[in-house]
Amino acid sequence: LLNQKYLRPETLDEAVNLLALHGKKLKVLAGGTDIIIGLRENVIDCEYLMDIKRIPEMMEIRYSEEEGLSIGGAVSLNEVKDCSEVSEYYDILKTALNTLANSLLRNRATMVGNICNSSPGGDMLPAALVLGGVVEAVSSEGKRLIPLKQFFLGVKKNVLRENELALRVILPPTKGKGIYLKKQRIKGHDLSQVGVAAYLKEDGALSIALGAVAPVPILINDLGTYSKEQLRDDKTVKTVVTKVLKAINPISDQRASKEYRIAMAKHFTVQALRELAKEV
Ligand SMILES: Cc1cc2nc3c(=O)[nH]c(=O)nc-3n(C[C@H](O)[C@H](O)[C@H](O)COP(=O)(O)OP(=O)(O)OC[C@H]3O[C@@H](n4cnc5c(N)ncnc54)[C@H](O)[C@@H]3O)c2cc1C
Repeated sequence: LLNQKYLRPETLDEAVNLLALHGKKLKVLAGGTDIIIGLRENVIDCEYLMDIKRIPEMMEIRYSEEEGLSIGGAVSLNEVKDCSEVSEYYDILKTALNTLANSLLRNRATMVGNICNSSPGGDMLPAALVLGGVVEAVSSEGKRLIPLKQFFLGVKKNVLRENELALRVILPPTKGKGIYLKKQRIKGHDLSQVGVAAYLKEDGALSIALGAVAPVPILINDLGTYSKEQLRDDKTVKTVVTKVLKAINPISDQRASKEYRIAMAKHFTVQALRELAKEV
């Protein structure tokens, strides 16, 4: 049993006021698939747990051509997966979603929770990064937009302030092709040993993001622009792989050795480029 006092605001105003009142004594509860484990294992401590699943704005998932896909803080991963625009425009997101644990867990776990938990191995992080994701944070002082490339500070650390709540993540409208490749120890549910997301925009701009190869997910978006034919060229592959290996800094831990992570990052980068180079 947990000792925390349970709060369940019904409006966003109520939620930000509770945050302003309790500060770091309060932790946000979305799906609870990370935080409840942390509390049980005494690696997280707080006096209050604030459930955000009754707040209407947090439950919204919507798409528009102007803004793209907006995913509220309490939207589950399966709700994202079932959204028709995700299948149509965000295939990379769908691939990443399919690798995350299992359907049972995805019924509870949220996309924004995965981002706010800020584990370097979180599967939604590389995909959201290459898609140019932006978090909208809200507090009693107002709202601000934080590009995901500036969001992560370290293992389970991000730029959200004590009085802030992530209201939603916005994935801008974009046309292109993406792929997410993940290596994990066991089939089923496990954080990645290495995760690689690669995205080729319609105009040829290539970006790659990697998870579990540094304290924060790594985004490399100065890779240049390529035609599909150029992506098949060995020289291009070599240039991209060199840049990727220069950007990562993996450690050895219970999931994989540093050397294995480097080898897999290289392997997945080559595989991802091959996939992106295929004519559909
Ligand atoms: C068995 C199991 C298997 C798993 N497998 C995977 C896997 O394969 N890949 C993977 O990436 N993850 C995996 N996870 C981790 C987990 O499911 C995800 O990180 C999940 O997406 C977190 O979302 P949540 O809604 O459950 O977050 P919660 O646990 O509710 O919250 C996570 C953290 O984010 C904060 N937070 C949540 N929402 C907000 C908000 N709106 N504003 C501010 N702070 C917020 C919380 O305070 C907490 O610190 C697994 C977990 C379990 C238990």
